Amino acid sequence: MSKFWSPFVQDLVPYVPGEQPKITNLVKLNTNENPYPPSPKVIEAMRAQVSADLRLYPDPNCDSLKKAVADFYQLESAQVFVGNGSDEVLAHAFYALFQHNKPLLFPDISYSFYPVYCNLYGIEAKQIALDEDFQINPADYQQDNGGVIFPNPNAPTGCLLALTAVEQILQSNPNSVVLVDEAYIDFGGQTAVGLVNQYPNLLVCQTLSKSRSLAGARVGLAIGHVDLIEALERVKNSFNSFPIDRVAMAGAVAAFEDKTYFEQSCAKVVAGREQLTQALLALGFEVLPSAANFVFASHVEKEAAEIAAKLRENAILVRHFKQERIEQFLRITVGTEQENQRLIDVLQQIL
Ligand SMILES: *Cc1c(COP(=O)(O)O)cnc(C)c1O
Repeated sequence: MSKFWSPFVQDLVPYVPGEQPKITNLVKLNTNENPYPPSPKVIEAMRAQVSADLRLYPDPNCDSLKKAVADFYQLESAQVFVGNGSDEVLAHAFYALFQHNKPLLFPDISYSFYPVYCNLYGIEAKQIALDEDFQINPADYQQDNGGVIFPNPNAPTGCLLALTAVEQILQSNPNSVVLVDEAYIDFGGQTAVGLVNQYPNLLVCQTLSKSRSLAGARVGLAIGHVDLIEALERVKNSFNSFPIDRVAMAGAVAAFEDKTYFEQSCAKVVAGREQLTQALLALGFEVLPSAANFVFASHVEKEAAEIAAKLRENAILVRHFKQERIEQFLRITVGTEQENQRLIDVLQQIL
């Protein structure tokens, strides 16, 4: 603390991201990055931007990227918002679209950035318990609120909510924005994007960090009714007019255009997830059904914190949350085949 801090900053409780340590030969399965590189076409498009033109500002409206996303989903560009990672898009949505005089509803076990944004923007958080199988029950979201947000698939559980259940939540909340955070949807779920023309209260957020292997480029997006997008644009243009740089923009456009590579890369991750799940089950883990690029697993005998510490001694990082209900679980990102095998080999020794 310092005398120069505003009273506001003294009360801030920031988000703690998964660590990015500088250890060589690290098997990094703690932050859900994609184990496979971006498409070669993405790299090529980004390289082409490294030129004298970097002296010029990028397009503040991100027209080429909005068009690429709109074409991918057969929507209008005006239904698309883009930002510097979906974390930034989420921040703008919290500020622009959730009513600040009523509680925001979200699951008790979900993305830990949501309570941080509530704190930052002065929004009351009302956390709704997942059921005993760690599932979202749509009936629990039929109560007075200033907005609803949940990841689908959920994080860190990996559990998918069926699109019919998402629709139930939309129907029971006609007067609030329902934000579906689809950071992991491409690994096996059905996106709610197809519902945006039907539900003016639906905002879908996605990111290029996971299924499109571009965590390092920081690009996220939101799709919804033009009125919701307009609100996000107002906040964005009151905050930072140029959130997406020239290099990231070109890479993101190419990532949406190279559908074949995207689909192959997602299929490899899904196959890896199924192999990893089987191997963990054989080692005595319970594994929640995952539709994401990670699994959430708990060992029948051994403490999760101890397993995580021992893995770390062997240069393997996984994520452990010291949080009620899930303290015996580990969130393990699906790696390459070799990384998954290394994890299983080391687990065999530890257990
Ligand atoms: C990774 C993740 C994000 C953030 O993605 P960025 O685009 O990298 O900021 C948002 N929501 C959830 C649930 C995530 O897991």
